[in-house]
Amino acid sequence: MNFKSILILVLTGLLISCGSSDQGQEIVVTENEQVQGRGEGKDNWWDNLPRDHWGKFERVELPEDQGWFEVYKITDRIYALYEMGQFEEVISYLILGSERALLFDTGIGVGDIRSLVTALTDLPVSVLNSHTHYDHVGGNYLFNRIYGTGTDYTKNHENGRPNEEVREFVGPGWVWKDMPNEVTVDNYTSKPFKVTDIVNDGFVIDLGDKTLEVFLVPGHTPDALVLLDRRDRLLFMGDTFYPASLYAHMGDANFGDYVASAKRLSEMAQDVDILLPAHNEPWVPSEYLNAMYQGFLDIQKPGAEYRITDGDREYRFDGFTIMVSDPAPWEIEEEE
Ligand SMILES: [Zn+2]
Repeated sequence: MNFKSILILVLTGLLISCGSSDQGQEIVVTENEQVQGRGEGKDNWWDNLPRDHWGKFERVELPEDQGWFEVYKITDRIYALYEMGQFEEVISYLILGSERALLFDTGIGVGDIRSLVTALTDLPVSVLNSHTHYDHVGGNYLFNRIYGTGTDYTKNHENGRPNEEVREFVGPGWVWKDMPNEVTVDNYTSKPFKVTDIVNDGFVIDLGDKTLEVFLVPGHTPDALVLLDRRDRLLFMGDTFYPASLYAHMGDANFGDYVASAKRLSEMAQDVDILLPAHNEPWVPSEYLNAMYQGFLDIQKPGAEYRITDGDREYRFDGFTIMVSDPAPWEIEEEE
């Protein structure tokens, strides 16, 4: 019996609805105790895989030792490097220009993303992170040139994170594929790296015949950013938007900043057709930018419906949810 089957046995049927709270809101208790606070659908996340969405794209054949990643050709110039074996289902993007290439995020750091990238392009490759959560910087240490924000948050994460802080992310409930390179729960760490080039709002990265613009959108984390390909009307989103539960409730998130960034992104929607998120699915319509901002406004209205998932509020919209702590940040401000 493989690990996945064991998980399914242990966790089968554990989504329990427990009536409603005194505010008339639905309370959901999820019992995948290894993955908590991550919104609805996490108890059986592996059942969704592979997601149908990926069938639209050409899959790139890889050597067997690169099996941790699935690589898809999203356009002539963009590869999505997808880590389906771990709960985050993180997507890093390799973007090719005529002279240089940019790797937007480097995954959770268990596969050798450097040799994978080298197999895909001969161009010199620089790294830019959408933000410095562990699941986006894992392979940074393998690269020499790394763009990053000058925030204290980024600087702090350049030091890496020890096994005690990240081991759960490769433990039971989080990983169902065999991990390569002898990575185990006991030896997994987030390795230190060095930002060599500071990016500010509006910073332009020149890949030769293609330029990419950086926009700082704090909220999910203080160093969250998006990357605009203005000519091709593409926006690489990081974790600021993906078609799943958006985390405005985690320790590093700032609700007010997230709302302000969502507003700014909704104003950018006219320049963009397609969003390329850092999790789950690589190609979603830009209408979500307006829907996300509207969602952030709607949840602050009195009587907005939510459910409580693992103690956090989850507001549901078409194609995504927004998670905030309970009580909500705007209610706490009112009490003060
Ligand atoms: Zn994140």
